[in-house]
Amino acid sequence: MNRTGFGQLSSFSIVCLSNSDTLRRVVQADLNLQPRSSACWTAQLLSAFQGLRGCELYVRALQTGHAITMQKFTADLKHRMRGVWRDAELVAPNMQNNKLATYHSWFAIPFSRNERMPNNVPWYLHLNLSKHVMRNTSRFRLRAHTLKVEAAAWLEDGSCVCDQCPGEDEHVQNEVHALLFCQDHRVCELRKHFSFLFTPFF
Ligand SMILES: [Zn+2]
Repeated sequence: MNRTGFGQLSSFSIVCLSNSDTLRRVVQADLNLQPRSSACWTAQLLSAFQGLRGCELYVRALQTGHAITMQKFTADLKHRMRGVWRDAELVAPNMQNNKLATYHSWFAIPFSRNERMPNNVPWYLHLNLSKHVMRNTSRFRLRAHTLKVEAAAWLEDGSCVCDQCPGEDEHVQNEVHALLFCQDHRVCELRKHFSFLFTPFF
């Protein structure tokens, strides 16, 4: 079962529009099973409807065997997905240690204003990079790395301050610091080789 329920709903709509009694009986049997089994197809589909604007409508349609308009359902799914970023927009990554807000502010590909437009994946995923570079680029962008800002959550000293930069000033060792300001020679070396992967910053 995927989180969106898109595939299951497509199958359900096909069954609703078909003339096959056998298919209808299969769907009805699954509907009857739903109150007792969270693993059945209907229960999973009902779960996927949660948080959609047309949730009540979809639940009713499923329970009564009426087809759901895929176009409307798809638009609803996109709206729910965009809701993740709407929440993240309210958080400033420099003020709160929040992975989602950090990704949204600094790395995410902005959605098109037109909800019908397909979503783009980050362009570096199309490049012919080694597995190692691809993995580490993704880790860096997703704050699944060991920079101080992340490591502070599980290290004893709990400090986010960069311990590689000389001088009195204290800098939070986060992604922006690593990409633009850090003076550590290893970071400078990485920046020289891989800055092209972070074009909005350079
Ligand atoms: Zn530094």
